[in-house]
Amino acid sequence: MKSLWNPKEAAQCKDKLELLVYRSRLIGSEPKLCVWGGGNTSTKIIRNDHCGRECRALCIKGSGSDLKSSTVKDFPPVRLDELLEVFKRDRMSDEEMVDFVSRCLLEPKAPRPSIEVLLHAFVDQPDIDHTHADAILSITNTRDGEKIAREIFGDELLWISYVKPGFTLAKRVGEAYRKNPKAKGVILEKHGLIAWGPDAKTSYGLTIEMVSRAEKYLNAARKKKKIWSPSIFSRKGVLQYALTSAEQRSLLIQSLPLIRKKLSANQKVILHVSRSPEVLEFVNAAAAARVSQIGPATPDHMLRTRRIPLYVHVSSARSRHAAPLLQNQIVSQIETYAQKHKRYFEKYKRLLPSNAQTMLDPYPKVILIPGIGMITSGSDLKNAKITAEIYEHSISVMKNASTLDTYESLSERQAFEMDYWPMELYKLSLAPDEAEFARQIGLVTGAARGIGRAIAFELVKQGAHVFLGDIQDDALNEAVHFINRETRSNRAFALHFDVTNPDSVKKGIEKIILQCGGIDFLVSNAGLAHVSPIDRLDLEDWEKSFAVNATGHFLAAREVTRLLKRQALGGNLVFIGTKNVLAPGKDFGAYSASKAAEAQLARVLAIENGEHGIRVNMVNPDGVFEDSGLWETIGPSRAQSYGIPSQELKTYYQNRSLMKTAVLPQDVAEAVSFLISRKSSKTTGCILTVDGGVKEAFPR
Ligand code: ZN
Repeated sequence: MKSLWNPKEAAQCKDKLELLVYRSRLIGSEPKLCVWGGGNTSTKIIRNDHCGRECRALCIKGSGSDLKSSTVKDFPPVRLDELLEVFKRDRMSDEEMVDFVSRCLLEPKAPRPSIEVLLHAFVDQPDIDHTHADAILSITNTRDGEKIAREIFGDELLWISYVKPGFTLAKRVGEAYRKNPKAKGVILEKHGLIAWGPDAKTSYGLTIEMVSRAEKYLNAARKKKKIWSPSIFSRKGVLQYALTSAEQRSLLIQSLPLIRKKLSANQKVILHVSRSPEVLEFVNAAAAARVSQIGPATPDHMLRTRRIPLYVHVSSARSRHAAPLLQNQIVSQIETYAQKHKRYFEKYKRLLPSNAQTMLDPYPKVILIPGIGMITSGSDLKNAKITAEIYEHSISVMKNASTLDTYESLSERQAFEMDYWPMELYKLSLAPDEAEFARQIGLVTGAARGIGRAIAFELVKQGAHVFLGDIQDDALNEAVHFINRETRSNRAFALHFDVTNPDSVKKGIEKIILQCGGIDFLVSNAGLAHVSPIDRLDLEDWEKSFAVNATGHFLAAREVTRLLKRQALGGNLVFIGTKNVLAPGKDFGAYSASKAAEAQLARVLAIENGEHGIRVNMVNPDGVFEDSGLWETIGPSRAQSYGIPSQELKTYYQNRSLMKTAVLPQDVAEAVSFLISRKSSKTTGCILTVDGGVKEAFPR
């Protein structure tokens, strides 16, 4: 592992706290050293309290923040001398400890200090870094871990047998340090590494040095022994079960919505599929079925991956039978996993305080499927990806530990204590409240500009994962970039999507499944307009209008409805209609007739799908000019039909409404948001007008 320390950058830090942030970010930016949200670092400083009295303070990472993006405010200062008061105690419950530490905070509103705060206090060293590096865990999680650690680190690092983080662990480390003040750090069995020193550079340097030594040892061991042979598939070198890549893709498209349905029993989840070479090597290995069930590489990984993944057992089958068989096996084994989790919870729940005996979501967060890869779930795609990344580190630890010796982990009981540890679960409670459309996936067609773009923006703002479908790729990419930047999220996705082409529609929906696992709503918006009196209307223009305004809605809705029914989690379709459906205008025959077909399509969809919990509604806007490609093309000819100059068209529309007001894309977006939201949960087959009030177009 390379040191990222840059003397010039370090020299720019004006005090110890800035140096702490600097090195914390270095540690956080190396995933083999520290996974998302993991690890903690500290420094000891002298500062003034609220009365201006000088006091010693320990600044330590707060619970729930991530080292990579940490800032000074993520390191709450705690009165060191008060923390040291409890060293003489023999025991202290977690609740007592948290309560005690909260009283030692120098800034009462600071985040809760890491649960390892006492450990950092009890070691009288200015700078301390605690990490869960893959290479270190590869050693601590083997049967002979202690022996190997001695071989690599001699007595530079002290070995501490496994004990759950908290007061007891802190005390043991503190005592070990007092007996061996020359030690450079400790190795925590089945947990991680702690390195310390008189300054930031030393503690960071030692962390890197110790991890590098472990890596070197592992590299040498790996050369001697090859593991993870893909023998699950081979019998005398012949693959017994293997799918072509097209079959793998099709299996995922078929299975992901069913998996999403299963995993969403308590709350909807978003799915992420990982198929990196490392993941495939592991899931395809004969040993994976056993090794993956041994337990977590470190308690630090468990908050997101849970104790064990689901390893899907596949019966040996010839390629052409494998896919449907596997699909059923995955779904039934997810249920078996949840049942097992219930038994595990019942077995150990007595270890929890009586007010905290609530079972967590029993469904797996990580699913390993031989021949396919790994599927992870989360409240959004970002979280599903973080879980995948963390489990990839677990895989690396299992692989290295198996190279050295036999991979070992916490006992089931020890794992339960961490799995359900309120102090660790507290981190999850720090997540901000979920937005209205969090955990939802949707498609907005015709989203590159105008109304479609405004709708997509609004729904992403409210937490949804939104695929923006359009055929104008440049404008589409610009819209996606804009929305992601403005919402500081990566929940907008560009999707080349031609509503008139069944193949493009099918492929688009498949991409959504592969990327997020399913779908929850469709906003069918793509449309075009043509102006001409009917006696002068070309057949070609009539057909073009119908291809987009009628068939386009049909193709998109058909594909999405099929998926929604298969996924069986309900859903929403919203059709962007027009005032013309109820009150057509002259020279607008092709547009009005084709949009009327759309409206009739929406009504029939509402009738057919109510029993599946799928709601279908329409929004009828009128005269929405802003950022509109439609008005750019037809504006002048509409003005001509009304016998007014082009530049007066906007005012004309505004004045013909009852409220004499301009209708904006955002107004339509708000209406769509209402129709997708829980607030309209009993509404289907409805038309919501967004036209400033046009009495001829009142729905009746
Ligand atoms: Zn730790």
